[in-house]
Amino acid sequence: MKGVLDLDVEVLIVGGGLSGLCAAWRLKALGIDYRVVEARARVGGRIYSPDYGTDFDLGPSWIWPGQHQVAQLLEELHLEKFDQPVSGTTLYQLQSGQVQPHQGLSPMSGAYRIKRGSSALVNALADALVGDNTIYLEHICTKLSATEHGVKVQISHGESTLEWHAKTVAVAIPPRLAAKLSYFPALPSNLHHALSQLPTWMAAHAKIIALFDNAFWKEQGLSGTAMSQVGPLVEIHDASPSEGGPYALFGFVGYPADARQQIGQAELVKMAKQQLVSIFGPAAKKPIDVIIQDWSVEPFTADQEDLNVAAGHPAYGLSIKTEGEWDSRLHFISTETNRDNGGLIEGAIDRATQFAHNYSNDHKK
Ligand SMILES: Cc1cc2nc3c(=O)[nH]c(=O)nc-3n(C[C@H](O)[C@H](O)[C@H](O)COP(=O)(O)OP(=O)(O)OC[C@H]3O[C@@H](n4cnc5c(N)ncnc54)[C@H](O)[C@@H]3O)c2cc1C
Repeated sequence: MKGVLDLDVEVLIVGGGLSGLCAAWRLKALGIDYRVVEARARVGGRIYSPDYGTDFDLGPSWIWPGQHQVAQLLEELHLEKFDQPVSGTTLYQLQSGQVQPHQGLSPMSGAYRIKRGSSALVNALADALVGDNTIYLEHICTKLSATEHGVKVQISHGESTLEWHAKTVAVAIPPRLAAKLSYFPALPSNLHHALSQLPTWMAAHAKIIALFDNAFWKEQGLSGTAMSQVGPLVEIHDASPSEGGPYALFGFVGYPADARQQIGQAELVKMAKQQLVSIFGPAAKKPIDVIIQDWSVEPFTADQEDLNVAAGHPAYGLSIKTEGEWDSRLHFISTETNRDNGGLIEGAIDRATQFAHNYSNDHKK
């Protein structure tokens, strides 16, 4: 959509990832005026898949039993899920390169995936909003200033600088990126500190997906799951669609972000192809295509501080409230601000839903 120089809106959502789009969808259902500004030329944020006729997740793949918000949203959007394929033998590649079979449970047992990929979720939300002309792509929020009646938002769009006004702003971008925006007046220092301490989940990681004409591993009684002490891929899983092909294996790259940059993406892809053959045998020799996605080089996902992987799952959540001039005008709603499911799809949906309902309750006439 073209840049609109000056715009007045009730709720401005910064970020068109899952939390931003879900908040928009919930606000729309509650009859509340909203707009979404998204920095990239696409929606979805960390949920992304290339177009191969079917979707292959370069971001998140899995949801787990007990994640009720995702389950409910899938139902609302008429999307289906299927079990992550795990039956068959898991393989272990030792440091020597030797490959050993293992009959135990796959670590992804019980996880499920969304039919047509995780991007089906953000596409369904975006499709439901698109007719309203409320999503503005390639609009980068740079500055937020508190005004008497709300927030003045500075947005960079191509060569233009736009100035929009909102009663309330929901910042749905990773907290570390949120901490780097300019705020006038400055955010309370404890809030600013808390935002900059919340690591962006999975921002340091890279995924490689290899597409094949047939699921040769299944024909060999293998699950497609493999763990390797050699690399570059350290954890490999079946990434095929629920039905039909192309079939796929994906792996997380085990090298840290700076090492990946030194090696280069073309070389990493070459190494991954060789490794797949060393684990799964000659049938893996001829992938149709191999795709690499390195999230650490994505400026609208990763901050410099995110490049070192957090040990384990960080403690997430944001308990510090905005106060003073910012009171009730500014909300941080990305997944990392969720306490119980921070970093996950479930956390993004939960924060978006909470925000929309609280906003509606607080502004009931
Ligand atoms: C490789 C990988 C694997 C993962 N695996 C799983 C999994 O299996 N299960 C699971 O539950 N979760 C997983 N996750 C996490 C999951 O992707 C996130 O929880 C979820 O997508 C976060 O959504 P979000 O909207 O909160 O943030 P984001 O997706 O980061 O969205 C933020 C949006 O804001 C935009 N933006 C940034 N700065 C600005 C700005 N200044 N102005 C305007 N827009 C801006 C960005 O472009 C982006 O679209 C994985 C993530 C990755 C990267």
